[in-house]
Amino acid sequence: MPWEPIEKRRSDVERANLRDYDEAVQSFSWDKARLLLDGLPDGALNIAHEAVDRHVAHGSGDKLALRWLGRDGHVEDFSYDRLRRETNRFANVLRSLGIGKGNRVYSLLGRLPALYISVLGSLKNGSVFCPMFSAFGPEPIVSRMTIGEADVLVTTATLYKRKFAAVRDQVPGLRHVLIVDADGNPPEGTLDFTALMQEASDEFDIERTDLQDMALLHFTSGTTGKPKGAVHVHEAVVAHQVTGKFALDLHQDDIFWCTADPGWVTGTSYGIISPLTIGATLIVDQAEFDAERWYSILRDQKVTVWYTAPTAIRMLMKIGGEILKQYDLSALRFMASVGEPLNPEAVVWSQTVFGRPFHDNWWQTETGGIMIANYAAMDVVPGSMGKPLPGIDAGIVEHTGDGAREITRPGTIGELALRPGWPSMMRAYLHEEARYRKCFRDGWYLTGDLALRDAGGYFWFVGRADDVIKSAGHLIGPFEVESALMEHEAVAEVAVIGIPDEIAGEVVKAYVGLKAGYRPDDDLAKELLGHARKRLGPAVAPKQIAFRENLPKTRSGKIMRRLLKARELGLPEGDISTLESEER
Ligand code: ATP
Ligand code: MG
Repeated sequence: MPWEPIEKRRSDVERANLRDYDEAVQSFSWDKARLLLDGLPDGALNIAHEAVDRHVAHGSGDKLALRWLGRDGHVEDFSYDRLRRETNRFANVLRSLGIGKGNRVYSLLGRLPALYISVLGSLKNGSVFCPMFSAFGPEPIVSRMTIGEADVLVTTATLYKRKFAAVRDQVPGLRHVLIVDADGNPPEGTLDFTALMQEASDEFDIERTDLQDMALLHFTSGTTGKPKGAVHVHEAVVAHQVTGKFALDLHQDDIFWCTADPGWVTGTSYGIISPLTIGATLIVDQAEFDAERWYSILRDQKVTVWYTAPTAIRMLMKIGGEILKQYDLSALRFMASVGEPLNPEAVVWSQTVFGRPFHDNWWQTETGGIMIANYAAMDVVPGSMGKPLPGIDAGIVEHTGDGAREITRPGTIGELALRPGWPSMMRAYLHEEARYRKCFRDGWYLTGDLALRDAGGYFWFVGRADDVIKSAGHLIGPFEVESALMEHEAVAEVAVIGIPDEIAGEVVKAYVGLKAGYRPDDDLAKELLGHARKRLGPAVAPKQIAFRENLPKTRSGKIMRRLLKARELGLPEGDISTLESEER
């Protein structure tokens, strides 16, 4: 391996208060993990009770649960007790509107306090919540609301008028639209969220929800095709709690900032449920990425644990570590990343400029929670996703006709697979039974990602099965090629795809975004090709380079290689409902 492991600081291991990895794996059971939660009478369980009310019952009602940072500098604080009362009000609002257990509540909201209140209030009411990115256009909104049979939409006046009013009749089953900023004057056919909240009682008896009752509907990022609606149940909270501890080192006294929007599963599982269930303080920023704003938040809010994504890290790298010298980030002690492969370059960079590595971890909308991670008390191996968390049985499998067989030989590439049985696993792709069933074979859940396991038990991401390139008999994982190019000082971001070639079948083409101060000319292209050949050998290195100002990404920050490929080949673009505008 080209990169040395980054040894864990002793003080960090001690503070994490976690067992040694092997010991933790040995002693773990989901039944024991369940006991960390309170539960409700007669075996009932409700995510919102575990995240909010139980802390009030245990005497922590005054503790700061959520601090909201408005785009304009406005700050709003919610203690656990305030959050309990506000979410009770929303649950009462739903009940008064005839919305009950199993009904579907959708949001089309930026990161406003009302979003967080709606998620937790809906769960208290036994309703199912489905958060959508506020940047979605009418088509993705309608298709998601149709698949999930939306009963309620919570949104703002502007979003309603701009995106939904004209298409509302395409969702005939929708019963209510609640406008959070109606200011006493909701658009025709909608209701005033604030007025209803004021009238509602702040006491509420949580609806009985059982472990297997549906709680959340989350659409996948749409990186590889049409998004799937993954169904998650209340029992998932068991996994949200323990994975937050193991993979994010979250404790009660932490100030935690997850930069993800709840429109993406990360922003719900870890941007709401996990930190609250652990009893930590959650920071929510309304604004979009801005390096100086982000560093100021880390400093001013004394963030101790920070969870973000490779795209953001690469943007920070693009700006450079120099500006960090103006910020005292001494409170920060744990940083983690998810969503895309994290290039080893980025891990080593963070170790240099922050004095700490980003801990990569892997999971999916379907898995509901972190599965593989550079475990908090374990040395970080740059470029590796880490090891399966306690309670998670992961393997590398090969396909055998209709079946799947585990490959145990270290270093062999195969499909990353998991043995189902953890609480946050999806229970269905809503209304897509066949697509769901296709994910399971011989007792494995097949993830659609290719990976390998090394002799030390660390898992390495190779690429999505759809993105893998076959060139002259070689199987080329895009991640390896991209990471090699990232090592070049001019490169800010990169995506590679396979393009047809008469002789080799496919050859590698790289799309490169440059750091400030570099010119996208032929000389640089030649230099990059040469660098890649030296690092990877001629069989694997790209044959072509194209410079791009920005690469196409999903709303959750994932590079859409399939779109680059479709455009390259002049094929239809397919489902691009999650594409970020201007490809930023
Ligand atoms: P779709 O399934 O609709 O194509 P998606 O797979 O991008 O979209 P998500 O569930 O948000 O939707 O993303 C999960 C995927 O993201 C994983 O299957 C994997 O391909 C990628 N991923 C997540 N974390 C990592 C990581 N640490 N390293 C490499 N890839 C990762
Ligand atoms: Mg996927």
